[in-house]
Amino acid sequence: MARVIAIANQKGGVGKTTTAVNLGASLAVSEQRTLIIDSDPQGNTTSALGFPKDPSRQSLYQTLILGEPIEKVTIDAQVEGLDLVPSDRNLVGAAVELVNMDDREYRLREALRKSRDNYAFILIDCPPSLDLLTLNALAASDSVLVPIQCEYFALEGVSELLDTLTRLQKSINPSLAIEGILLTMYDDRTTLSKQVAADLRSFFGDKVFESVIPRNVRLAEAPSHGMPVIFYDIHSKGAESYMLLAKEVIANAQKRAGEGIERADTGTRAAAAGAASSSGNAGVTSDDGDSGSSGPSVGPE
Ligand code: ATP
Ligand code: MG
Repeated sequence: MARVIAIANQKGGVGKTTTAVNLGASLAVSEQRTLIIDSDPQGNTTSALGFPKDPSRQSLYQTLILGEPIEKVTIDAQVEGLDLVPSDRNLVGAAVELVNMDDREYRLREALRKSRDNYAFILIDCPPSLDLLTLNALAASDSVLVPIQCEYFALEGVSELLDTLTRLQKSINPSLAIEGILLTMYDDRTTLSKQVAADLRSFFGDKVFESVIPRNVRLAEAPSHGMPVIFYDIHSKGAESYMLLAKEVIANAQKRAGEGIERADTGTRAAAAGAASSSGNAGVTSDDGDSGSSGPSVGPE
């Protein structure tokens, strides 16, 4: 079943779309079937993947507002193993139209229920705001990946964002985890970038991805050619850094799966011990280590 990851930060221009497109493509070439959902009315992910604006094309709007199944609006992103749910300008209206609908925060979650079996990863590119489109994305996700630009107010911005996520966990999605904080547009020639990176790491520890995305002109150029950077210039630092990020995301997923098996195993053994024991108490610790039940604090799983 797919890991659903929202790529979110209320701040604009921090690299959300660049990350959705290039992490998505890097996961797909690493043989992980991936779906990218463009949940931003700006439609930058859609055009960066080579799909020019087309009012006749179905989009996420049809799914969120008209209840069209997600498979009906999904298109082949022209990269093996990569699909796209495109955005269009109608989505601007969707954020408003959703206000009066039933289950307005959960429409994407419901729509994804069946598709989750078809992919290893589903990435959702969010708009730079906390509107109903972003809330739908966060309600539908297992985790959130937060790109942070290495600049002066970065730390302040991310603390606010984590407060917001903690509130969302209490309201719309108690099991939402932090997939990771991603340092973007990093420039190792500047003291500021280094300082911001060091501060974020000392504050957020292992919530920060080891992979860092450098400022790289190829990453900025690739969207105008309608292709992810690995197809535009595979040897660029940008391509390399998103491949490393994909490796890290896959490794984290495998680690979680391993822990899941271990937990299930421990549970089975504990249950067996419980059945064997005449007191029947031996199984009560089988849920230990399950972070999903440990309350609302935001943290890596
Ligand atoms: P918005 O909030 O408007 O949706 P965003 O968070 O999705 O923005 P992007 O569109 O990914 O941000 O990036 C903003 C701009 O910075 C784009 O022009 C993009 O090409 C450029 N950019 C992003 N990451 C990098 C990078 N690592 N190196 C160089 N340019 C980058
Ligand atoms: Mg964007």
